[in-house]
Amino acid sequence: MIEPLSPAREAIKLAQLWRAVHGLTFPINAGALAQEWSRNVAPEAPIGELHAEELKGFEGGLFWLKERKVWALLYHPHPDVPGRSNFTVAHEFGHYVLHRKLKEAFQCSQNATLGITGARIEREADQFASYLLMPIDDYTHQVRGRRITLDLLGECADRYGVSLTAAILKWLEFTDQAAVAVMGREGMLHWWKASGSAKKYAFGMLQEGMELPSDSLAVNPGIAVSMADYRSGVEQPEGVWPMKLPVREMAVLSDRYDMSISLLILDTPGAEHPDAPDEDMTTTPPTF
Ligand SMILES: [Zn+2]
Repeated sequence: MIEPLSPAREAIKLAQLWRAVHGLTFPINAGALAQEWSRNVAPEAPIGELHAEELKGFEGGLFWLKERKVWALLYHPHPDVPGRSNFTVAHEFGHYVLHRKLKEAFQCSQNATLGITGARIEREADQFASYLLMPIDDYTHQVRGRRITLDLLGECADRYGVSLTAAILKWLEFTDQAAVAVMGREGMLHWWKASGSAKKYAFGMLQEGMELPSDSLAVNPGIAVSMADYRSGVEQPEGVWPMKLPVREMAVLSDRYDMSISLLILDTPGAEHPDAPDEDMTTTPPTF
């Protein structure tokens, strides 16, 4: 049996290839890389078409065009959030690299590209996109020693050409800080993801479908976004969130999903405080 390709490993190889040519210039242009690489590696079946198209109910798609013997990669345009399109293109490129022998048509809805639930190949394509566009070595360098705020993660999202949501989820994968992202919709917890050191506090405490805590910003992101300091965080005392720890909570409406997203930085026992408030508290308008 042929070993299935590892999404992370394949994506890291391709990101290195891109960086060998373009150096440290970000973002990685997923579309350009997909076309160039596919022409070299599979000239008999390259990605011959790449364009934005209004796709009803779909974020992106990858289709084999039998007559022309090329693949077409389509993505829903988001002129206001260009990073969202780059991530979608990278996701479809992931299907091309990992799954093109399995199917001749991939149609990816917003939920399918959530990378949270759903089919294995959807999670794999999302993982591929995340590793391709946000190399962890570079990302670590960007945030080292800096206080984590939505502005900082937003800067990283811009650097990598991804949505703020994607940048938050990626940061959780490698940070040493205890942090949890909670996605909510209509007052209910829809999904959560914890950093490695926060898992033990969140497991058993956060459940899909539970009501969001009534004093959290997550329960009313509309109010959260009107607060001046919502992007750098509101200190919430122990007991607001079920982890039973004080947390610093930041909330935004997700730019990728129809949900709110709260980022909680947990004040765990014995944790250092690398994130004392900045002197620079400039209030730039939200860009997500
Ligand atoms: Zn997909």
